[in-house]
Amino acid sequence: MVASCLLWPQLAYAMARWSQDSYGVEKRNLLIDSAIAGMWVPLLHFNLLPSVVLVTVTTFDKLSSGMRRLWLASLPGLFGAAALVTLLLRPPLQLESSLLVVICTLPLLVVHTLSSSIASYRLIRTVSRQNKMLELLRRTDAQTGLFAREHWQTQADAALQRFHATAQPACLLMIDVDHFKSINDSFGHLAGDQVIAQVGELIRNTVRAEDCAGRFGGDEFAVLCQNLVIADASPIAERIRAQPLTLRLPDHPTLRLSSSIGLAAAKPGYTNLQAWMAAADAALYAAKQQGRNQVVNVPLAALP
Ligand code: GH3
Ligand code: MG
Repeated sequence: MVASCLLWPQLAYAMARWSQDSYGVEKRNLLIDSAIAGMWVPLLHFNLLPSVVLVTVTTFDKLSSGMRRLWLASLPGLFGAAALVTLLLRPPLQLESSLLVVICTLPLLVVHTLSSSIASYRLIRTVSRQNKMLELLRRTDAQTGLFAREHWQTQADAALQRFHATAQPACLLMIDVDHFKSINDSFGHLAGDQVIAQVGELIRNTVRAEDCAGRFGGDEFAVLCQNLVIADASPIAERIRAQPLTLRLPDHPTLRLSSSIGLAAAKPGYTNLQAWMAAADAALYAAKQQGRNQVVNVPLAALP
């Protein structure tokens, strides 16, 4: 008992701790644990309660280790050790447990169940926290902190559905930095990256809390203004257009920046998001054609 309860755990810990292959050694230790538990079943004269508790607890440990099929691999050692000790000692059969044996078995049962439950609880909390973090990362564009394209599109799609169902207005802004390629060429890609991050921050600080700002990819951004008609969205677009003009990078004081914006309100003719975005894109294209650094609304004539 002293060897298996007091010495073996210390030895197993030391071997795993100091080995180059801690994982492999710990796996082997867990298999030896099972063999030791199996050995104890005949030593306990097959006394039902402690034998069942010992075998269950040991097998549970293999399952909760998360190592693939370890519990299956532990069974030959467990039954093999039990059979070997039975053959060598031929112990008498004493299935019934006295009150003393029941009382002595309870601590293992209680402590093991509680500690396993606490470990599971902690694991579930960690996994759910990490899932939330993953979801946040999936939704966010790392460079700008704005919504990533896919999540932004989901929001815009929902706004268009709401418009069709309840006539709640919404406007869409497509924003593209002017001559961004030449910024990359003249000041380098790092400066270009800084510009993207700064423009993202400017947009985030300019829109209202209920607006949904996203990065569409490259130097293109998109803002969904919820519950706004085009006359009220235009000033927001103008404010966003004015912001990059004031941007100065300390490392590149000569760098100047402007942007072009296409603005389109949700209309009954836009049966899907693609149609709405195509209209905003056409307005953005017009802004580029007309000399950049301006906001262009979808012209009334172009409305379906
Ligand atoms: P225009 O005024 O017509 O928009 O001209 P432009 O030069 O801005 O043309 P365009 O919008 O097509 O250029 C996008 C360029 O942005 C192409 C690509 O090399 C660059 N780019 C895309 N993503 C990044 C990025 O994350 N960092 C940097 N530094 N450059 C990027
Ligand atoms: Mg551009």
